[in-house]
Amino acid sequence: MPRWGFPAFAAVMLGLPLLPVPDFWITQSLYIGLYALVALGLVLLTGVAGLTSFGQAAFVGVGAYAAAWLATQTALPPLATLAVGVGLAVGAALVLGLLTLRMSGHYLPLATICWGLALNYTMANMEGLGKYDGILGIPAMQFFGVDLGTGRGLHPLVWAIALVAALAVARLLDSRPGRAIRALKSGATMAEAMGISTFRYKLTAFVIAAVLAAVSGWLFAHFQRSVSPSPFSINKGIEYLFMAVLGGVGHVWGAFLGSAVVRLTEDQLQVLLPKLLGTGGNFETIVFGVVLVVVLKVVPDGLWSFVGRWRPAAAGARARDWAGAEPLPRRPKPAPGERLLEVDAVRKQFGGLVAVNDVSFDVNAGEIVALIGPNGAGKSTTFNLITGVLSLSGGAVRWRGQGIAGRPARAIARLGVSRTFQHVKMIPEMTVLENVALGGYGRTSSGVARAMLRLDRAEEKRLFAEAEAQLARIGMAERMHEPAGNLPLGAQRLMEIARALATDPALLLLDEPAAGLRHHEKRALAAALRQLKAEGVSLLLVEHDMDFVMGLADRVVVMEFGTKLMEGTPAEVQASPEVRAAYLGTEH
Ligand code: ADP
Ligand code: MG
Repeated sequence: MPRWGFPAFAAVMLGLPLLPVPDFWITQSLYIGLYALVALGLVLLTGVAGLTSFGQAAFVGVGAYAAAWLATQTALPPLATLAVGVGLAVGAALVLGLLTLRMSGHYLPLATICWGLALNYTMANMEGLGKYDGILGIPAMQFFGVDLGTGRGLHPLVWAIALVAALAVARLLDSRPGRAIRALKSGATMAEAMGISTFRYKLTAFVIAAVLAAVSGWLFAHFQRSVSPSPFSINKGIEYLFMAVLGGVGHVWGAFLGSAVVRLTEDQLQVLLPKLLGTGGNFETIVFGVVLVVVLKVVPDGLWSFVGRWRPAAAGARARDWAGAEPLPRRPKPAPGERLLEVDAVRKQFGGLVAVNDVSFDVNAGEIVALIGPNGAGKSTTFNLITGVLSLSGGAVRWRGQGIAGRPARAIARLGVSRTFQHVKMIPEMTVLENVALGGYGRTSSGVARAMLRLDRAEEKRLFAEAEAQLARIGMAERMHEPAGNLPLGAQRLMEIARALATDPALLLLDEPAAGLRHHEKRALAAALRQLKAEGVSLLLVEHDMDFVMGLADRVVVMEFGTKLMEGTPAEVQASPEVRAAYLGTEH
């Protein structure tokens, strides 16, 4: 959106009831705002975090029923009923999230259908909630003497809340916790390796989406002045998901566009379709289903992507506003020669295959150790055992004397062990700079509330200054504003190194860092790694380019078929006939 876009849109929506707009359109617009609140939660939960929920209508119901019951049975003011409704939704989301968010693949969406149905049946069958008749006679809200009981009265409140929520979500997405949420869709391994608890952010997105839905329900109850179970059924849950997907499932404003399209066509279809078909029924659901399939096929990013195309090309680039920001704190470097990492008879079995067979070696502070061996020798598996990505079948890994086996990857990362991946793991839609900023996650602390209130800007500047500095160090600074997915493979590998460096590691594990690099790029990388060593960072690297390895490493560990073949200086390893036979496949 251009800079004036949001204020202009907000002014129109807030002022709409003052204009000579017919009541019908005010009501339509009010419903668009109500729907958009729910769809906004789904943009965050499904579009950004990749967690599909069919059950959001049930959270709308929680907010609506809380408002309805409390308003008719107690003397609580509307703000208090809102607080109770939101509190109930948060509680329900925490319980349901703890139970279901660890599920993978299709089990999670299925679980959302289950609890969506269960909550809806509860509403429809509880004596105190009026069963299928629901609750009638909710008093109209008053706001400093203004009657909010009409569409015109309530419209500004609905839209003020929806716009504030949109702004809050947009701000969240452009922040430390927001980048963590955006990282969820690409799988947990990379995010956890950067020190991020992926489960915590799944739960966060789930709770935020539930809160937005409950607020929508509270407004809905005060607009309808009555509640019944059907608007909170699984059908409606599917419709909310449809709005989010149709509008553009990764875009905040797509929630509004999708809600508008659905609301404005729903009414027309409800009138038109029975006439065309000569019989009544919820045929609009079928039309929405067909449209959804077509949209997903033709514009998988949703309708907002058409709007997004009008934006100037550089709109995604972050303004470089961090010049002179105070550097992030660095961890004290271990004394040169200190034994940092002890790999002690580590073992990994995949069924019958022994991928790593009782391998032992150490890495001392200020050392570059290379791990070499033919494809399938178990090098990457060894990396995964050290960094907590895989659990050990036997043996021990010690970091500065302490056993770290069994700890989650994010805890090991926070100790100062960082890594890159043989198969690059990144968020392709994020800029190079944002990807590298993920590395600084553990060195910063802003949470959701600070991000939404924009109290995190000073820390963000420090973080982006660090990210740029790390990119500059490996010669990538000019490309920092490009989407990471557009880079060639070699540059993506360099970006991963910068991301790992942004964690301020004491030990850096690089899995085939020079693969895909051209000759001069390899030379530059080798120089950068030597510089790191001079600064006190230790390196463990897997690499196939022998010139690169032998010119860089202090010690070389050779593996073959999961077993350690030998260990020595580059000269010793190169002179070994066994290594030549195994690794080079030549006999001398
Ligand atoms: P390298 O990195 O030295 O090329 P890897 O550590 O990737 O080798 O693999 C070592 C062996 O373990 C290979 O035979 C590979 O097929 C097997 N392997 C690696 N990961 C898994 C896994 N998750 N499940 C089953 N087998 C695996
Ligand atoms: Mg490998």
